[in-house]
Amino acid sequence: MARYTGPVCRQCRREGTKLYLKGERCYTDKCSVGKRAYAPGQHGQGQTRKKVSEYGVQLREKQKARRVYGILETQFRSYFDKADRQKGITGENLLVLLERRLDNVVYRLGFAASRTQARQLVTHRHFTVNGKRVDIPSYLIKPGDVIAVHESSKESPLIKEITESLAHKTVAPWLERPTQEVMNGTVLRYPTREEIDTPVQEHLIVELYSR
Ligand code: SF4
Repeated sequence: MARYTGPVCRQCRREGTKLYLKGERCYTDKCSVGKRAYAPGQHGQGQTRKKVSEYGVQLREKQKARRVYGILETQFRSYFDKADRQKGITGENLLVLLERRLDNVVYRLGFAASRTQARQLVTHRHFTVNGKRVDIPSYLIKPGDVIAVHESSKESPLIKEITESLAHKTVAPWLERPTQEVMNGTVLRYPTREEIDTPVQEHLIVELYSR
């Protein structure tokens, strides 16, 4: 379960766009993309934008998707291979697979402020799927699955604080959580492309891996 452990905001600055990796902070003026709108590193500031090759554009799009979902290259590639074997449009299949990860679903249901926090809550065994504890962030959910805060975690100050602070958050339309007070949610169906707001052009990722 390897993951990126370096500076988080640096990833957004590298991509030149907000990837919303830090939860509430991303919506404030503390966001580094607004404060330091140049690439990270010694030569980032004052660097003139070079013309980016077709390969460079495709690579950046893949890196952006990896960073949004917090996945390392090997695992991302295996998602792509799985998406490629499925019927339909490979790029869309890839995004749907990424959305089906348990850490993403916990985030989309409003149980966490970011996917990073969702991942941590899952690995710390705070969630169940269909009544059974699951501590694997990459676990793939399917329609009908019920994701819930484990009984023993419902009174946890951390969980209470997070859910209270996220009372305003809307739940993704392909999921159902009756009210913010209810500590469980149901997967109604897989998301459509239009319902996935991740800012990536997936066809560029397909082109990259098809080289
Ligand atoms: Fe990215 Fe959020 Fe950091 Fe802004 S605050 S740079 S959106 S992770």
